[in-house]
Amino acid sequence: MKLSVVGCGYVGLVSGACLASLGNEVVCVDIDKRKIALLKKGKMPIYEPGLGDLVRENVRRRRLFFTSDLKRAVRKSDVIFIAVGTPPRPNGGADLSFVENVARTIAEEMNSFKIIVEKSTVPVETGEWIQKTVERYAKKGAKFEVASNPEFLREGTAVKDFMHPDRVILGVESKKAEEALRQIYRPLKVPIVATDIRSAEIIKHASNSFLAMKISFINAISNLCDAAKADVGQVALGVGLDRRIGPAFLNAGIGFGGFCFPKDLAAFIHLSEKLGYDFELLRAVEKINQNQKAVFLKKIDQAIWNVGSKTIGVLGLSFKPDTDDMRFAPSIEIIEALQAQGARVRAFDPHAMPKAGEIFKNVVFCKDSYSACRGSDCLVILTEWDEFKKLDLKKVKKLLNQPVIVDGRNIYRPEEVRALGFRYFSMGRS
Ligand code: NAD
Repeated sequence: MKLSVVGCGYVGLVSGACLASLGNEVVCVDIDKRKIALLKKGKMPIYEPGLGDLVRENVRRRRLFFTSDLKRAVRKSDVIFIAVGTPPRPNGGADLSFVENVARTIAEEMNSFKIIVEKSTVPVETGEWIQKTVERYAKKGAKFEVASNPEFLREGTAVKDFMHPDRVILGVESKKAEEALRQIYRPLKVPIVATDIRSAEIIKHASNSFLAMKISFINAISNLCDAAKADVGQVALGVGLDRRIGPAFLNAGIGFGGFCFPKDLAAFIHLSEKLGYDFELLRAVEKINQNQKAVFLKKIDQAIWNVGSKTIGVLGLSFKPDTDDMRFAPSIEIIEALQAQGARVRAFDPHAMPKAGEIFKNVVFCKDSYSACRGSDCLVILTEWDEFKKLDLKKVKKLLNQPVIVDGRNIYRPEEVRALGFRYFSMGRS
């Protein structure tokens, strides 16, 4: 099938490359000409394991193309996936202006029957808005269908997640659209759930909110463990082995960040309010998540006392490991709070430093983890990159001014680190 994917970000680029590797001819479109120029040279605008090879392979096989000319891509495609950003507005609602712009251009350029698929995460009723927008700007009699196909991939494992999802959700209003989309996803051999568009839109928000709820739940338990001198790791193990609960998303820490959970949660709460339902549960999830950064800052304060006169070595800036994505990363608020108190910050992240450099002022970016430790009064861990788990802690101890680690991701075993002579603080494991 001839497909186009509009938006070459974390979702669009991965989806485009994967859909091409399933045998479709795919044109990936982005308004950002710099991104398209990079992609045409075989260079990736984002860090995502395995993506570069997949893109280059499909370009070589002439199944994957890049352009900033949306109009031409529309004319050549049967199915158009919209994967542009849906960032938060100050009131928490999703900014759907990018989606609207794309829908309008599609409408103006449609020359044959098109299936327009929302892949971006959008609030319920967006499908209807896309329908109305296209009807308004399309030539009389133009034939099209709108469908919803929310994406569940995670940054860091995006290619694997796209190719091996737990399920594919198709929000459709006709057998014709359902069959076309089923045909695209059939090679994945995974359960396909076809629903109406509204339900598909809610499935995405409900899934992300549920996962966010699990994280806030274990963080609340972690605070309780701190107070009760229990171990949240052991509690999570015992709780997670119950198959009704499951072990995933039960890692206590400094809370969730990234481009999905915070904004999708806020959008779902906002949407519920609009529909007349006060989603108190999700407001508590948000509150616990926000509070977790304060809990962590307090631990740093307890560990080294007057933060203002100290140098803090920070390991990890991206919102999670294996990505360079800095959007809504907890590191932003934490580092800015430390700097506001007068602390100097030396930081290292394996892949996020170029993006972090555009956000932070006066942070010394170091060439590796050990360099971030050198001369610091405390080592702070904000992202659980694998390489941090394998550090030579004896060397770390020699480089630090004081042997103090405040671990926001619980990557070390307390007894092992303390046996090396560190004062070690982590989350819910006092
Ligand atoms: P992103 O910001 O990385 O990518 C969006 C891209 O769209 C950008 O490259 C931007 O230049 C492009 N764009 C904007 N307007 C355009 C236009 N008019 N024409 C062509 N291109 C245009 O965003 P993302 O992380 O890929 O997220 C996209 C959507 O997918 C969001 O709704 C997000 O919530 C959802 N989502 C994201 C993830 C994730 O892990 N990042 C996972 C599932 C769903």
